[in-house]
Amino acid sequence: MVEINNKQELCTICKKEYTSINTEAAPGIKIHVCAHCLETAKENFIFICMNCGKVYLRPKKMLIEKMSNFELKQAYTQCEDMQLIQGIDICIECDPEGIFNYMEVQTTAEC
Ligand SMILES: [Zn+2]
Ligand SMILES: [Zn+2]
Repeated sequence: MVEINNKQELCTICKKEYTSINTEAAPGIKIHVCAHCLETAKENFIFICMNCGKVYLRPKKMLIEKMSNFELKQAYTQCEDMQLIQGIDICIECDPEGIFNYMEVQTTAEC
């Protein structure tokens, strides 16, 4: 949900523009998004790392095409017209080892 208040804050995504538009990236976590970044969100899914603050853009069409999980694909297809900015707990930049361990656990679980 996009909200507008009268406080100007630096845009969380580009960190260049001040804006009063804010949205929830994760439950209880408000981020500020400028009009330009909101425009970008129409064509791209925006992921923001809640740990280090790094922002990732992924073209919606490409991401959806690549998905092999049917349910996930459906869920994201429904979000295609929404300006979705999603908070993620951890990213490869702030914790490469954490991501690596996570993948290792996944592989073990499969065997
Ligand atoms: Zn911005
Ligand atoms: Zn990170």
